Amino acid sequence: MDFIQIYIAEHAKELGLLTVDLVLFGFSYYAYNKNRHNIACIHQSKYKGENVTYKYNELENNTTYGLVKGTVTPIGKPLTSLYDNSITGVVQKLSITEHVASRGRYGFWSEHSRVLHERNNSSPFCLINEKFKILVQDASYANQIDMHVTYDKFEESSPSVMDLLLIIASGSRQRGIQTTEEMLKAGTVVSIIGDIIVAKDNSYTIAPPKDKPFYIITGSIQTLLSHLESNKQLYKGFSIVFGAIAVAILFYSGKQVYAKYKAKKTKEEKDRRLRETRHQRRAAMRETDVVEELRCVICQIHGREIVFKPCGHFCVCEDCNDSITSQCPMCRTVIQERIPTYL
Ligand SMILES: [Zn+2]
Ligand SMILES: [Zn+2]
Repeated sequence: MDFIQIYIAEHAKELGLLTVDLVLFGFSYYAYNKNRHNIACIHQSKYKGENVTYKYNELENNTTYGLVKGTVTPIGKPLTSLYDNSITGVVQKLSITEHVASRGRYGFWSEHSRVLHERNNSSPFCLINEKFKILVQDASYANQIDMHVTYDKFEESSPSVMDLLLIIASGSRQRGIQTTEEMLKAGTVVSIIGDIIVAKDNSYTIAPPKDKPFYIITGSIQTLLSHLESNKQLYKGFSIVFGAIAVAILFYSGKQVYAKYKAKKTKEEKDRRLRETRHQRRAAMRETDVVEELRCVICQIHGREIVFKPCGHFCVCEDCNDSITSQCPMCRTVIQERIPTYL
């Protein structure tokens, strides 16, 4: 208990640092683990690629985690780019981002951006290759989906004189608005990793799995794996660094706290022994007939033996002193120090 109290009272800075560090460690470790999990899932999956030959009731739950590759083919009317009628696709992501420059605490201007609006659309599609056809479900839930940027425009703001005055006053300036459209275009050849489900009529669907990653990628599986691998290594490195910092903080501050804790305990023990011997000595040499004016105000038997600080009252014997917890019995001042006194 004392140990923790000393820690909180005297090492608040270290504790704050430790908290921040542990949050960063937690985040890094989570990211590392997630990448590791995703890599393992891909390795365990069966690379079907060109063909799925399973029939209904051949698989447990009629589902297997795997990869298929084919051409994105819309079912029905596809989505059309808002900026180019000739571009059609099945997944569309529109975003409007504001770029702002603001003056920081030290007078430097820094730039940051804020998403003002984001919209996702999707329409049903399947993957087709020479061998088979598979329906793709919930493509927008993919952990990663490689899309084409079909529109990207940055409109710079041109401030008026009034605006300029406001900018100087507020220290913040809108640099411009960026409008972006990304699409998974019809006709793109993609690989999808997910749950392949076989239906009763032996038709196939690929859908987001429950606890495995769902990818829609235009590159090769090796590229995806090496990307995940480098992320894994990066977060592993962060985890080690933040973990080591936590250990170092705990070690050094813990050592200091332990030293203080031990010193406190030793002093308490020493004080206790001193008090004991003093008690014995007092008991041995106490006078039996103390004049009334010098008797302890509490027991009215022993002589007065303790001076309280800061009030300065000299009013109790050593035995009664032990039963007084905080206030002087004469004036109710909180006692900060008790000085044994001999007449
Ligand atoms: Zn007394
Ligand atoms: Zn007093």
